[in-house]
Amino acid sequence: MASDKKQYTIEDLIEKASSYITSKEELEKIRSAYEVCCEKHAGQYRDSGEEFFHHPLNTAIILTTVYADCDTICAGLLHDVIEDCDTTKQELEDEFGPTVANLVYGVTKINKIHFSTENEALIEYYKKIIVGMSEDVRVIIIKLADRLHNMRTLWAKSEEKQKKIAKETLDILAPIAHHLGIHKIKSELEDLSLRYLKPNVFYDIADKLNNTKLERDKVVSDMITSVSNLLKENNIEHEIKGRSKSIYSIYKKLEKGRKFSDIYDLLALRILVDNVQQCYSIIGIIHAKYKPIPKRFKDYIAMPKPNGYQSLHTTVFGIDGYLFEIQIRTKEMDEIAENGVASHWAYKEHKDLTQQATTSTEAKLQFFKSIVELNEDKMTSEEFVNSVKNEILNNNIYVFTPKGDIFELPKGSTPIDFAYSVHTRVGETMVGAIVNDSIVPLDYELKDNDIVKINTNKNSPGPSKEWLNIAKSTRAKNKIRSFFTRSEKDNYIERGKADLEKELRKRKLSFNEFLTDENLEEIYKSAKVVDLDDLYLNIGNGKFSSTYVVNLIYKKENAEPIKKVEVPKTSDGDIIVEGIDKIKVNLANCCNPVPGDEIVGYITKGNGISVHRRSCHNLAFLDNRMINVTWNEERTNNRYLSSLFIHCNEQDKSLLEIMQKASTSNISIDSMHTHRKVDEVIYEVDIWVRDLEHLNKFIRDLENMTYVEKVERIIQ
Ligand code: MN
Repeated sequence: MASDKKQYTIEDLIEKASSYITSKEELEKIRSAYEVCCEKHAGQYRDSGEEFFHHPLNTAIILTTVYADCDTICAGLLHDVIEDCDTTKQELEDEFGPTVANLVYGVTKINKIHFSTENEALIEYYKKIIVGMSEDVRVIIIKLADRLHNMRTLWAKSEEKQKKIAKETLDILAPIAHHLGIHKIKSELEDLSLRYLKPNVFYDIADKLNNTKLERDKVVSDMITSVSNLLKENNIEHEIKGRSKSIYSIYKKLEKGRKFSDIYDLLALRILVDNVQQCYSIIGIIHAKYKPIPKRFKDYIAMPKPNGYQSLHTTVFGIDGYLFEIQIRTKEMDEIAENGVASHWAYKEHKDLTQQATTSTEAKLQFFKSIVELNEDKMTSEEFVNSVKNEILNNNIYVFTPKGDIFELPKGSTPIDFAYSVHTRVGETMVGAIVNDSIVPLDYELKDNDIVKINTNKNSPGPSKEWLNIAKSTRAKNKIRSFFTRSEKDNYIERGKADLEKELRKRKLSFNEFLTDENLEEIYKSAKVVDLDDLYLNIGNGKFSSTYVVNLIYKKENAEPIKKVEVPKTSDGDIIVEGIDKIKVNLANCCNPVPGDEIVGYITKGNGISVHRRSCHNLAFLDNRMINVTWNEERTNNRYLSSLFIHCNEQDKSLLEIMQKASTSNISIDSMHTHRKVDEVIYEVDIWVRDLEHLNKFIRDLENMTYVEKVERIIQ
């Protein structure tokens, strides 16, 4: 596929650049950037089999199509040398000056970010990150040119990579190109993305366009002649051309439910003139001759689009009754429409403006105002500008995980803020932080581009109240506060209290009898708790059983063993079967559902209803004899069988610990088998539990043990 493409050389680049760059020195600088590029990338190859230098060379050629200036072209040629060739920013600065070095550095920085487009909510955010991180808009333009060439050679990648890169391009980079108004690049990125994401759709549209091409070409050329003659009669100098809609824009319309034959603006003309006055004259002349479609006239000259686009649009009944979408604009407007922000390069009078826009914060804001469209349907422009302003005025910092995922945090943030923005659990189990390979205190102030690694320990007691004074972000503070006031904790306390009450009743004891100051002191000491709530909490969360607590006092008398559970596995009262009152119900012994599990019933032939976990793979083999079942909310004290695989890396100590944990968690073990492997021991354990919460708590506790690698529930 690539072999039919022209192989560009440095001479092609110089020729294209010299069509608008006149300085001999600048052209020489481009040539020497090319030489450094070849030297640095010598011996490297692309997936396409080409020598690597073709990629930066093509990137630079794409940059000339948007009239990039000399430094941008040089940076385009060198854009991969920091990342791939161990070149330092200083080296580039010494040889090509700070601007080129900064541009290359900026592209490298963006390339380090991993964008996962799986999370739709993050897409807007990623766009902002790219825009926000590029201190100079030229960095984004180089990135777009880089991506465009990568998309053109995407065929060389695996299908999985093709889809991933195409999706990222369509979701993040094409919209950025659009918001910067660089239509040329945007449109090609979209078409190429579609070709890899939905090849069937792409080729289907391409075929249909081909099949109707002859007919359309004829109509368009007749219309061009007709309009052109009309304008000549009125002495208006002009250029006029037919224009084809991109495959992607047709796809979008088809997606909205339009039929291929109805997409009337497939036929389109563009008229270019010298001044605005002529634009308005032409619209009058055209409307006088061809009947316009109502409401299709748009004046983007008086009311430019947010990205700076200006043009008059109208749709008319043309010759033979074909509909034509006609755009009328000046050549300068056309330049801006095609090249967006990059078009400033093409016009000397705007050159100062570009430079301003890349240096001063004020001008940067102007630039961002012009891309408010980025968020136009989600935020007012004011909100958007404010949110971008925050980023520009450096109220936020960007830091990375060791894997390169980016996080945005308020300035002044600490490792605690970072940990909580990764995940609440990371925050709560955090025991230390490493920034750029050095251990830092928890109140260390993070800086832009820091690489932060959080050390966690699952046995950590959780955040300390002191963290509230250290954390900066509202998110982290809220999470820490809620840790201390967590409703879960209250629930545990309540449940623990009820549990203890029940145990006392069983022993025919009263609360007052049991909770004397003397007894409490003994319990606090032995169970290592600080107060009554703490005691209830530990019973409620299963750390120890109420039997254990009562035994601390009444160990000699009355010490009943934990009740051995003798629950039949058919427990009709536990399950409510939709629409049926009395029917025999079994809990399936392949997946052993426990209350709290998502369940589904299967009507057996002659043995009532068998209840499976929804995730049970055996369901796949059963036909449509399914019935909705739910757990009865009013539950008994029944216990339920559950089977676990406990993977351990050291058997002797682990077995003892597991037995102890089961006993203190009020869980009785029904049976246990040991499977020995070379480097691990797997215990197959059948246990009796109250419900899913009880079971999950036990599994979590096991997983927190040093020797336990993994615990899984078995489905046979
Ligand atoms: Mn590249």
